[in-house]
Amino acid sequence: MPKQSVGEYQTLPLLPLRDVVIFPGMMMPFVVGRPRSVAALERAMESSKRLFLAAQRDAEVDDPEANQVYGLGTIAIIVQSLKQPNGNIRVLVEGVERARAIEYTEEETFHEVVVKPLVPAEPSAATQVKAKKLTKLFEKYVKLSANLPQEAMLAAVKKENPGRLADTIAAHLTVELDVKQSLLEIVEIEERLDKLTEVVSFEIEKLRVDKKIQTQVKKQMEQAQKEYYLNEKMKAIQRELGGKEGKGSEVDQLRARIAKSRMPAQVQEKAEQELERLEAMPPMSAEATVSRNYVEWLVSVPWFRRTRENTDLRRAAEILDEDHFGLEKIKERIVEFLAVRQLVDTMKGSILCFVGAPGVGKSSLGRSIARATGREFVRLSLGGVRDEAEIRGHRRTYIGAFPGQIMQRMKQAGVVNPVFLLDEVDKMSADFRGDPSSALMEVLDPEQNNAFVDHYLDAEFDLSHVMFITTANVLHTIPGPLQDRMEVIRLSGYTQREKVEIAKRHLISKQVAYHGLNPDQLLIHDTALDKTIEEYTREAGVRTLEREIARLCRKGARDLVEKYSEEVALAAQRVAEEETGRSIGAAEKGNGSVGPEPVAEPVDAAPEGDEGENGEILEPAGDQLLDDGAAFDDAPVVDAEEEDLPAIIDAKDPMERVMPKRTPLAEAIPADAKIVIDADQVEEYLGIPRFKKKQKEEKAEVGLAAGLAWTERGGEILAIEATLMPGKGKLSLTGKLGETMQESGQAALSYIRSRAAELGIDDEFHENYDIHVHVPEGAIPKDGPSAGITLATAMVSALTGVPVRNDIAMTGEITLRGKVLPIGGLKEKVLAAHRADLTLLVLPMENEKDLKDIPEEVSDELTMNFVETMDEVLRLALVTPLTPLGSKGKDLPPGQKPDEDSAQPPLTH
Ligand code: ADP
Repeated sequence: MPKQSVGEYQTLPLLPLRDVVIFPGMMMPFVVGRPRSVAALERAMESSKRLFLAAQRDAEVDDPEANQVYGLGTIAIIVQSLKQPNGNIRVLVEGVERARAIEYTEEETFHEVVVKPLVPAEPSAATQVKAKKLTKLFEKYVKLSANLPQEAMLAAVKKENPGRLADTIAAHLTVELDVKQSLLEIVEIEERLDKLTEVVSFEIEKLRVDKKIQTQVKKQMEQAQKEYYLNEKMKAIQRELGGKEGKGSEVDQLRARIAKSRMPAQVQEKAEQELERLEAMPPMSAEATVSRNYVEWLVSVPWFRRTRENTDLRRAAEILDEDHFGLEKIKERIVEFLAVRQLVDTMKGSILCFVGAPGVGKSSLGRSIARATGREFVRLSLGGVRDEAEIRGHRRTYIGAFPGQIMQRMKQAGVVNPVFLLDEVDKMSADFRGDPSSALMEVLDPEQNNAFVDHYLDAEFDLSHVMFITTANVLHTIPGPLQDRMEVIRLSGYTQREKVEIAKRHLISKQVAYHGLNPDQLLIHDTALDKTIEEYTREAGVRTLEREIARLCRKGARDLVEKYSEEVALAAQRVAEEETGRSIGAAEKGNGSVGPEPVAEPVDAAPEGDEGENGEILEPAGDQLLDDGAAFDDAPVVDAEEEDLPAIIDAKDPMERVMPKRTPLAEAIPADAKIVIDADQVEEYLGIPRFKKKQKEEKAEVGLAAGLAWTERGGEILAIEATLMPGKGKLSLTGKLGETMQESGQAALSYIRSRAAELGIDDEFHENYDIHVHVPEGAIPKDGPSAGITLATAMVSALTGVPVRNDIAMTGEITLRGKVLPIGGLKEKVLAAHRADLTLLVLPMENEKDLKDIPEEVSDELTMNFVETMDEVLRLALVTPLTPLGSKGKDLPPGQKPDEDSAQPPLTH
């Protein structure tokens, strides 16, 4: 490093500077006022006009001692000085060179100091390069800093001498005093350039950040101003349009409803946020509608209101008895279920699932449970639901999004603890839109359903107070995990006698009332009922029966109205007159005093409007959409009534809700007027019978056997035909056969081939004949394989030519060795055989234990044979026993009867 040269020692007056550092080469004006400084200045003026200027360490000190002033300063020359009237002196000084104070001497009024000038060494070649770089940086700095006079600055740095350049730049930087002082203290030029480059770069960075922040702040302020302006403008426009009042009150209303709805705090926050957004929106915009709907939904789902539950089990049992005939065991199980539910709050499998054919009373049991437990009743049909969103709703980002059906029904229920009937869980299916059953699982899972999140509402809802009940026609299409959650109760259908009782005790009175008749005005004889059941319905339940009874009532009502047309017309006239009278009266009142009627009516009418359930009984699956629409349109209106509704209310009677009211015209028909319906009248009202009374074949036929199947509609008779054709042993099965029946057919054929000789069949038969098996009314059985023995019987009959008895029906699966395996749905099948007048039944031995389920009135009329082997089946079912080959009929071709005299008498039972 080159040694810095040192100039001559000089003794100069010291002038301490506050907050400023003077660099060599700089001109600087300032005012001197402190007595010591004035004295120092005057002394300098008197002598060489030179001064030693050094910055004070602390600008606040008024009369600094020598050690309170930096030791390194600048020798300056006074260019100009002007005494001011107040004693101060304005001076203009020019820095000459750096100097270090060596020794201070205390004069009376000022410091004198011995200083040593510091002269830098000759700059190296690199200095020029560094100087250039620094100049560039400084130019940037000047451009960025808004408060420096650019032109002057840039001119100032056009200096050849790098040392001077550095000092000029240092002088012009707006940096802290100590930074400036440290720059002054660097004597060597190159070192000073380096330090300065660093300082300027840093300052540039600072300026950049400042600028960025400033732009951001500016932008934000502009945005805020803009929003404020637009909002004000919008309010003005709304005021012009007269919308302000309506909207204000609408938002206020919603706000009041939010407060009243007692929703959980989190949800309330959400609702209020949305309301704020709504307030800022133009009322007619699409977003406002979306936003309003959302808040409407949030306030109208029930968050806390519940109905008073009935815990009296005896009363519950009474109600169940009142509503349903028979079903003793089922009612008992329901009461047990209710008892347990009272004892534990959640339990696995605590959801009832009623399984059975249509019309056996599954839904109406649900309704009855609601009545028995004092709960509201809502119903959702899951038949054909494929989309998860139907259960859980669409996210609000979709246009026209809605909550899912679960929340729609909860809103309809209006309370947190309804009975919620999920109909047809077995008909739900999954596709690419997601699996609704997994969503349903969440709904039904007591561990999860206290925080059910509907996508639309986007808030947790507690479904744990709901009593869910499901119904299904069959079990096997319900996903296993869902089945696990449920307690299955099977309803297997009714006997003829039970149907008559149900009709007499429930269906007729209900339908008579639906049709606006008095109970005494329509009489249906037992014979008429028998005929209706036997010839117009064929079902396990009573749905078609109820529909037919409804038809009888309709026709009866028509006859009555026609018969008393004069009375009815008179009554109609009277009503019309009364109405006009009322409206005139109301108009008169309107002129003067205010009558209460016009206000009261719409309030009363509202709850009735949302039922729409009359049709539900008759057409249970049809009106779902109508229901949904109603549920939404009937968003509760804030009125005085709602204000006063307490947290716990009484449930509406689900049975009564659906009853229509009789009109004044109905009263015009005399109470003792009567329509009597007997068997003949039935045919007149209902037309030609739809079913033959007896379903069994006229006579025993070869190759025709009656099987029993269990289908979705309950038990059914399955006629199975088999015939032989020349061919090569092919088995063809036709009709609507399920896959399992195909397999049963093959198994039956293999059994026959392996036992051909014993059965009296030529064991070469398959070389010469094809067998064709047909199931004419083949409903697809739902209980797995059960037609094996019927198929085998029909085939054996065809192959041997021995007819099958026409009063026998059978069910059971067959193994290759001819064993008979058990089947499901015994009760349904037996009832079906009974309905069809087939009195002799062949059933698997292992099903004997199910006999207890069969009503006595049925079993008394039937002969039931429980068998273990196919041989027993054939012995019972064929008109004559079979003769094994090797005895007489060895050479007979298949289908040809053995000799008359070898035939044994038919079996009787
Ligand atoms: P499901 O839901 O099983 O298809 P529903 O519950 O709709 O059948 O019943 C059809 C009609 O039959 C309803 O009006 C119901 O009240 C009536 N019903 C069914 N079983 C009985 C019964 N045991 N006692 C009285 N009415 C019954």
